[in-house]
Amino acid sequence: MVFLTTAAASSFGIYRIVHGSAETLFEHKAEVIERSVTAEIERYRVALADVAAAVAVLERLDAAGFADLTEPLTRDRLPGAATVSFVVAAETADVPAVQARWRELGDPALGVLPIGAGEHYFSVLTRPLDGLPPRLGIDAAAVPAARDVLVRARNTGEMAMSRAYRLLRDAALPAAEQQLSFLLAAPVGEPGTGWVVMALRGTDFLREAIGLAAGDDADVKLSELGTSVVTVADWRPDQVDPSVDGREVTIAVPQRSWRLDIRPTVSLLPPTGVGLHATAAILGAVMASLLAVPVTVSWFSRNRAAREVVRATAALEADIRRREEIEQQLRMRELELVGFAGVVAHDLRAPLATVAGYVDVLRDEAAGLLTEDHRGFLDRLHAGTRRMHTLLEDLLAYATADSATLHAIEVDLHSLVSEIAEEWRASRSGHPPRIDVAALPTVHGDPTLLRQIFENLIGNAVKYTEPGTPAAVEISAVHEGRSMCRVEVADHGIGIAPEQRAHVFDPFTRVGGSERYPGTGLGLAIVRRAVERHGGFIDVDGNHGGGSRFRITLPTACPEAAE
Ligand code: ADP
Repeated sequence: MVFLTTAAASSFGIYRIVHGSAETLFEHKAEVIERSVTAEIERYRVALADVAAAVAVLERLDAAGFADLTEPLTRDRLPGAATVSFVVAAETADVPAVQARWRELGDPALGVLPIGAGEHYFSVLTRPLDGLPPRLGIDAAAVPAARDVLVRARNTGEMAMSRAYRLLRDAALPAAEQQLSFLLAAPVGEPGTGWVVMALRGTDFLREAIGLAAGDDADVKLSELGTSVVTVADWRPDQVDPSVDGREVTIAVPQRSWRLDIRPTVSLLPPTGVGLHATAAILGAVMASLLAVPVTVSWFSRNRAAREVVRATAALEADIRRREEIEQQLRMRELELVGFAGVVAHDLRAPLATVAGYVDVLRDEAAGLLTEDHRGFLDRLHAGTRRMHTLLEDLLAYATADSATLHAIEVDLHSLVSEIAEEWRASRSGHPPRIDVAALPTVHGDPTLLRQIFENLIGNAVKYTEPGTPAAVEISAVHEGRSMCRVEVADHGIGIAPEQRAHVFDPFTRVGGSERYPGTGLGLAIVRRAVERHGGFIDVDGNHGGGSRFRITLPTACPEAAE
């Protein structure tokens, strides 16, 4: 639809432009035609006035003088010019005298032919301008249009143009070549002396006057205006183009008016211009229909794709819901297991303490009664109870870290960590570890869980060092945002391979290299639980120069102060 509309609009636009330019072109052409006709009439007027003025000043007009005076007209190439003549008037009684006089001055063979009674008007000198033989002595009184123009010119003393009529000399031409003509008459000298008269043929005049200007592009009709409009001649080079309005132009000729009806022909516009808008419309329609196919196909495909997306989204949502349910169930199971492990660990503590107590008694008091082998068995029993004790304590701590109620208070982390560090130094008095504690903030947390966090981190940092190498641990903190701080525990121990770092926080996970060291694989799981219960997170990276760097975030006690 958009394409069709655009094509129609373009077609209309092109039509407007072409039509607009056709109108402008035609206006211009009509103006040139009008000017050409006006200019040619003016040339007739000037030429005739010149001859009349020259005749008027001659003392004695004869054939030779008239031939001299009218000679320039043969070169002037006035369009449609047929003859130029000198005409005199004569009453019937004067006819013989007039004939005698002009036989003497002009053609000795002159024979005037008066027609009817009254005044007669004889052409006594003539110069043909159209190549036909001259005809003298004809009485213009016999032709009303000729008589009228002579009388009018004489009465007004001004040049006058006659009505259109058929020249008598045209009678010699074939019917198809005969035309309507005009007489342009200029009175000479005293009223009644005579007239210089030029005859011009209408069709020839029009053809020669406007032929060049109109070419094939304009249809022109020449009419004379009077009591009725008479068409004198026309110029029809091609079919008229009805889409552009024609023009009517009135031309002033001496004492009369002519009218030109000018209309554009189909040749005015190049065929490409005429057909351009139609071509645009057709091309637009064709392309619209061609485009309609892929557009329809893509519309259906898009709908199908949209339905697929809706279906896939629904399936995905169902999948996510199912996963959430499963995760929820797993979490419940885990909680149950942790709780169960906690209960078991708690209940095993008492019997284990009994076993351990009796083992200690036996080692202290009955050692002398036992063989070497039996003392070895007792030592292993003792070590086993120690390991079991550690496991039970870790299990209990792991269960507690998850389920015990959080009693958060302001805790001076620096004091807490320094205390733990001191305990470690004291426990290894032979090779005391170097534990540097930088300034640590006061945090908002559960003192028991915070202690578990740092006991495990510092314990691991001290424990996982190469044998014989003294442990070196640095603990520092920086603010992280407005309400959290980040505490780092960095050591120079055996380190953790990058690909194993993400797993060390899973319960019962001990990574490569730790076999040589005692442990349950629960310490970092306890730490992660405890940190997460404070709204923080934990991760581990390698330390510069070897070892590990554990980072945890914890809430600071006074968020504003932390700024
Ligand atoms: P464990 O009781 O084995 O120490 P943890 O959960 O505390 O259990 O630690 C899990 C494993 O992570 C350890 O077995 C050890 O392989 C590794 N690990 C923890 N802390 C360190 C450390 N500071 N340096 C090197 N390895 C460590």
